[in-house]
Amino acid sequence: MISPEMTPFASVGGLGDVVGALPKELAKKGHDVRVVMPLYGFLEPQCGKWKALETPMEVSLGWGRKEHCRVWENFIQEQGVRVYFLEYNKYFHRHEIYTGPWGSHTDNNERFSFLSRAGIDICYFLDWIPDVIHCHDWTTGFVPVYLNTTDRDTPLGNTASVFTIHNLEHQGIFGKEILDFAGIPFSEFRPDSLESVGCVNMLKGALYHATKVTTVSPNYANEIRTSQGGCGLDKVLQFRGADLIGVLNGIDSEYWNPATNKQIPANYSFKNFDGKICKQKLQERFGLKQDEKIPIFGVIGRMYQQKAFDLLATIVPRLMAEMHIQIAVLGAGESWLEKAFSDLAGQYPGKIGAYIGYNKELSLLIESGSDFFVMPSRFEPCGLVQMEGMRYGAVAVARATGGLADTIEDFSPETKKGTGFLFEEYDPSSFLVAIIRAWVNWRHREAWKQIQKRAMEKDFSWLHSAKEYEKLFKLALKFRAKA
Ligand code: ADP
Repeated sequence: MISPEMTPFASVGGLGDVVGALPKELAKKGHDVRVVMPLYGFLEPQCGKWKALETPMEVSLGWGRKEHCRVWENFIQEQGVRVYFLEYNKYFHRHEIYTGPWGSHTDNNERFSFLSRAGIDICYFLDWIPDVIHCHDWTTGFVPVYLNTTDRDTPLGNTASVFTIHNLEHQGIFGKEILDFAGIPFSEFRPDSLESVGCVNMLKGALYHATKVTTVSPNYANEIRTSQGGCGLDKVLQFRGADLIGVLNGIDSEYWNPATNKQIPANYSFKNFDGKICKQKLQERFGLKQDEKIPIFGVIGRMYQQKAFDLLATIVPRLMAEMHIQIAVLGAGESWLEKAFSDLAGQYPGKIGAYIGYNKELSLLIESGSDFFVMPSRFEPCGLVQMEGMRYGAVAVARATGGLADTIEDFSPETKKGTGFLFEEYDPSSFLVAIIRAWVNWRHREAWKQIQKRAMEKDFSWLHSAKEYEKLFKLALKFRAKA
């Protein structure tokens, strides 16, 4: 796998969690899985299990240019997954992966071309030829292009590529001079490869060249084939037809287990529900009124419009005026959204608590202490937080989009089935109605307990998804051999 992120080393969202979990599951099934990623400035290879490989690795860029980088090796020990870190300080010795204090790093085109090229060159360097290279999002978009062009007549000629879209919104669009830098033939600058309105679109190139394309939920796989959800690439995705497959992400069911995770204030399970200790702690930590009888709606996520924090902010005054509820918010992102929620916490003391930042301990506290979990996303490729929340007994109130629709079943009072509360239209009133439905059902304790039980018992482990990927990798390998 080639990726810019991998939990626990470097992660800003779901992509890191996927690359942290999937290799382990595949390795458990007996596969030799190795991951290549950058050595960022915040990683400290001097201590622990790190080992520097003896010789530096050569990376072949455009115009015959050779760069050298040091390779560090680490292990996800129990499962035997090797992780290779590329030490190339000019590009990676930074404290942020994609974006610095002044916005996206201006050399992201070169940084991630380098990652893609080095991710391939490391195979020659180690003399290790994988059956499949699995790469992730636009940052590794050149990988399938190299495999089909510059590297076709090399030992990697039969190596299949699987490209996973974690978020179609980010495509890696740059000026065409990046082709020279990366050493990609200029003949690929055409609409059925890398070209897009006069620029190079790294993600588009991968869509054309990858042996198979996946995305992180079946529903998102359908949505991105439409003009509303396709971010300008719907036609390309339609063209890939059956080669585009949605495989739902899983979550680490050991870590996300309230019965065993020692990082929450008290362990519990549905049968032995002492979640109220977590609720007390959450109220205490977020400055909310200490009262077990008030339901808490938790919210966690990157504060960007995708996650619809603005829609939530719009309905807060009505929620506060008409319902007896509390809201605990954790997130960081766009400054106007951060400010909006800090202001709301000031405006409704004891009823809204907001923490601006990225904090794993607080995310666990919200998930274990909340009664509900809110996720009104504009779009959501898969979404992990709703699964994490459900495992901890926080019933989801979410928009029926992407992976949210695949993982949450809307509660029906007629059939008494369902694991959460969904709404379809992206507008304040539909969202408000969903919250009211959730609140009304919460007051009918027995019915609500059943919804919560079903949510907590849902199996979101990686087992199933890893099997799907395994099948897909085998298929990709067959396709590549025939091509
Ligand atoms: P995305 O990948 O779009 O950011 P996901 O729901 O797929 O969203 O995954 C986000 C992951 O990051 C989840 O595991 C969530 O718990 C975690 N997360 C998001 N924001 C924060 C935060 N502010 N503090 C701690 N964890 C966070």
